Amino acid sequence: MFGDVLEDELQSEYGLTVGHWPQSIALSTVGGWLACRGAGQLSNRYGKIEDIVIGLDVVLADGTIVHTGGHARQSAGPDLTQLFVGSEGTLGIITGARLRARSVATANHSSAWAFPSFEAGADACRSIIQRGLAPAALRLYDAAEADRNWGTGDIAVLLAFDEGDQATVDATTTITAEECSSAAPLDAELVTKWFGHRNDVSALEALISRGYMVDTLELTVSWTDLPVLYTTVRDAIAATPGIISSTAHLSHSYSDGACLYFTFAGKAAAEGPDAIEEMYMSAWNAGTTTALTHGGSLSHHHGVGLNRARFMSASQGEGATSVLHAMKKALDPNGILNPGKLGMPTAFGDLPDRFGSEH
Ligand SMILES: Cc1cc2nc3c(=O)[nH]c(=O)nc-3n(C[C@H](O)[C@H](O)[C@H](O)COP(=O)(O)OP(=O)(O)OC[C@H]3O[C@@H](n4cnc5c(N)ncnc54)[C@H](O)[C@@H]3O)c2cc1C
Repeated sequence: MFGDVLEDELQSEYGLTVGHWPQSIALSTVGGWLACRGAGQLSNRYGKIEDIVIGLDVVLADGTIVHTGGHARQSAGPDLTQLFVGSEGTLGIITGARLRARSVATANHSSAWAFPSFEAGADACRSIIQRGLAPAALRLYDAAEADRNWGTGDIAVLLAFDEGDQATVDATTTITAEECSSAAPLDAELVTKWFGHRNDVSALEALISRGYMVDTLELTVSWTDLPVLYTTVRDAIAATPGIISSTAHLSHSYSDGACLYFTFAGKAAAEGPDAIEEMYMSAWNAGTTTALTHGGSLSHHHGVGLNRARFMSASQGEGATSVLHAMKKALDPNGILNPGKLGMPTAFGDLPDRFGSEH
């Protein structure tokens, strides 16, 4: 079921919401959210999809139907729901899911803040989230990305938005204002502008149709490692021949770290798809190896697929990789489910060189 259809039905018929709002809400499905361990834009309030799901129906490679979870919590062995969440279709096909739903919000509040640096803004996000009650969205844009979006000049811009009942929203509004006391308030209209265009990627598509390469790379990093990782990954991507823009925003916050979301664009010196692909793979290699060196995770919500498969064993370690491969062998001995995804061994020959070789 597509995300927008789910939310339309839930809200209009039951006054409920799952609260999972990825930018791809109208392009993506509940099964895809679960298969890729996705995140919605309001995940500080509603959780990432692995926090929202309580049970699954899964069809295994041999046709066996498995039902997992279904209770608020239980203590009955490992959580098999979470085994399939993020498995990207390599262990089974998700055919049903039980998700937590909440009442549709009755109040909301927006604010926007100017920080002298991305690092100062990130520190405010950390302080807010560590108070234990944070706005549904805290989105911090570095100066280049904010200026590109809203013409705000040489400042990092934090957008804060919360929704819920009035008392909760009042509390997060107070907490946000207290932790942003060193920042200059901006017009909250910026949040409205973000909401109006938050799922609109037509500007990127326009660049791609003119021969530019545009992509995004997201990951998580601890608050301690965030400042160094932000600059080194941004600069490593920017140093790739052909890259003309490398910017970032902080999109999701946790008590122990945050998701950084890098956006990069470039134009290859030579014409044709091979030159674009070479630039694309070089930018990904530079960004990912730098991130892994500086304490970043391989991904936050886009998953691994084929493009990140070559980094899986390096990022997960030998022990974890062998457990994952053993599970694959047990559940899909003939390797028929999504061969090559997640860096799993494939029975159908090697992946093309550009995806297959470990970096
Ligand atoms: C413009 C754009 C914006 C995006 N924004 C976000 C965002 O804000 N947050 C976010 O988390 N992601 C985002 N994404 C990535 C993507 O939409 C999500 O990861 C989404 O969760 C994938 O769902 P899908 O239905 O599109 O899956 P697909 O792309 O169709 O499939 C992804 C993988 O999951 C497997 N799969 C799909 N359904 C099932 C199933 N039922 N059972 C088993 N395996 C399955 C597929 O085989 C494939 O390997 C964005 C993508 C685009 C293009």
